[in-house]
Amino acid sequence: MAHTQFVAWSHRTSASSGRDILIVEDNEKNRKLERDILQFHGYRTVEADTAEEGIRLAQAAPPALVLMDIQLPGMNGIDALHQLRGDPRTRAIPVIAVTASAMTQDRQKIMAAGFDGYQPKPIESPSSLRRCVTRSVAPQWRIVRDVDASPPP
Ligand code: MN
Repeated sequence: MAHTQFVAWSHRTSASSGRDILIVEDNEKNRKLERDILQFHGYRTVEADTAEEGIRLAQAAPPALVLMDIQLPGMNGIDALHQLRGDPRTRAIPVIAVTASAMTQDRQKIMAAGFDGYQPKPIESPSSLRRCVTRSVAPQWRIVRDVDASPPP
């Protein structure tokens, strides 16, 4: 299935002073996959397995970008986005929804909520996540450069 048709973007780029990418994801395998792809491409990552913890981390040290799962135990990703947007400390951080909700209605609801991008799960190719991130995070915030030639194993 082609996922590119699902992707919609705002033109927001990170106004956050942070360099890390915050992964909010309750599934450990998905978290590891996202971490592995991002670290391979030179990004620093921090992780939370609940929205509440993610918000706490973002408030304490605003990241360059948040990858936000929608279905989470406790607070969901949409409510978490609203909390981040409602707080001056975290308002400017770009937030990308990472979700298995492939239904058109779900996608529309997610984008209408104000996310800066949409990455379908399962993440079928490392390059789709990398593209997602490079649209939002300034290139100089990568630690490693020129590693684009080969994808992670
Ligand atoms: Mn989840």
